[in-house]
Amino acid sequence: MGASAIVEGVPVSTEHWIGGERVASPDPFEDLSPIDESLIAMVARGGRREADAAVAAARKAFASWAATSPEERAKILHAIGGGVEGRVAELAAVETRDNGSLLRSMRDSVMPRVGHNFHFFADRLLQLHEPDFETRGHRNRVTWDPAGVAVVITPWNAPLMLATWRLAPALAAGDTVVLKPPEWAPLTASLLCDIARDAGLPDGVLNLVQGIGEEAGAALVANPSVDRIAFTGSVETGKLVGAAAGANLTPVSLELGGKSPFIAFADADLDEAVKQAVNQYDNAGQVCLAGTRLLVQRDVYDEFLDRLVEAGVALKQGDPRDEGTDLGPQITRGHFERIDGFVQRAKADGAKAVMGGGPNEELGGLYYRPTLFVDVPERSEILTKEVFGPVLTLQPFAGEEEAVELANATAYGLAAIVYTGDAERAERVSAQLVAGTVWVNCFYVRDLRAPFGGARNSGIGREGGAWSFDFYADVKNVCTAPWERS
Ligand code: NAD
Repeated sequence: MGASAIVEGVPVSTEHWIGGERVASPDPFEDLSPIDESLIAMVARGGRREADAAVAAARKAFASWAATSPEERAKILHAIGGGVEGRVAELAAVETRDNGSLLRSMRDSVMPRVGHNFHFFADRLLQLHEPDFETRGHRNRVTWDPAGVAVVITPWNAPLMLATWRLAPALAAGDTVVLKPPEWAPLTASLLCDIARDAGLPDGVLNLVQGIGEEAGAALVANPSVDRIAFTGSVETGKLVGAAAGANLTPVSLELGGKSPFIAFADADLDEAVKQAVNQYDNAGQVCLAGTRLLVQRDVYDEFLDRLVEAGVALKQGDPRDEGTDLGPQITRGHFERIDGFVQRAKADGAKAVMGGGPNEELGGLYYRPTLFVDVPERSEILTKEVFGPVLTLQPFAGEEEAVELANATAYGLAAIVYTGDAERAERVSAQLVAGTVWVNCFYVRDLRAPFGGARNSGIGREGGAWSFDFYADVKNVCTAPWERS
């Protein structure tokens, strides 16, 4: 074996995976664990050379992968899903060490979902069908043809889940893939390559380029022979990726940041609403969909606030490998300081931190206290900019109209959460919210058949179910004139 690291007892190759071979790097980068900021691996640092080599390997493998039958592709995807399921414990342990997410959540829900991503798109591929239709005796037949090489670039907050939610449909559609995982949590992507190889995925169909975003990522999205770019990350990087894709007219799907509203009406089940409001601190606030702007009807504002603080201070912060931990660390020192910058500026604006408001000094390291701001001045940036940390704001509203106005008052539109006991109100309000997903009296119920994506700056495009195939495939209509029979 080439360069590797042992992480939580699991051997992980730290090299690239290009054309079915591990490729070493003369100049690796440091991968630190957010749990204790210790060095866990030196990881290959790719650039233009590796990006071009991976795209060339994917291109070479494309023709034969595209020619496999949907049944064959589905079989291999199911085998990859099974391989993931067989290694859930290892994947969970490595991911937690690498990105600081809760081990129990990785083991019990996130890694099983990774396996499900493969099973779902394998099954969906076999259901892909649009009935033929006629135009003046002409037959129209729609097909989803493999498009070519797809580049998949993902962030660190749920690295393997987000990577597989993009690459499973790409592989199912008959594309070959180059994956660039986040430099702050690059390891599980490497394990996935082992799993895919063991499942019988031919060499070159899935390639991995490790490295820094501005180097490896930028080189991949600038490559003119790439046919699809699926990017998940921040709005700022999304704009760069979109511009690079535009220069080559490469179709791009962007899943970006959010600042989602969480609206609770006075007629809501307050127990449930408060429980889910506290859940917005999940993954130490590092969740794109999180409803970080709590909007609560004035009649129940005081009660909601009291209950929220009571539940919030009871959250247990600590090592994400401990089963009792609710909140782990932030991903890196730089990100931790960025979050603190937001909190200190909000205080300077006059916002009042009724909970948290700074680092957890008892724990030290990268542990930031779950923070709740009230009395936030209208123009404070904390109401409109994504913090991507354990920081919520709470604002009162009088009625529906004001709730919708406040909810829509950002440049984002990823998700919205509405708690109400009135079904008609739920319909009215949902219809007016600018969001790719609205959850009513629930949160984070995800079905891969549903479209997923963001409005406004939260992204471009929708994936999930048939929407994924529409993006990763070249959708074609063949219109055939009637055959003359004599
Ligand atoms: P980021 O934009 O910094 O990085 C994302 C990925 O892009 C990384 O792999 C990085 O290496 C790469 N990258 C960086 N610069 C690049 C460039 N110039 N060209 C190509 N690739 C480049 O984001 P992050 O900090 O890793 O992730 C957090 C952000 O992701 C938040 O804004 C969060 O809301 C968002 N996010 C969105 C979703 C969604 O589904 N909408 C899901 C998770 C996270």
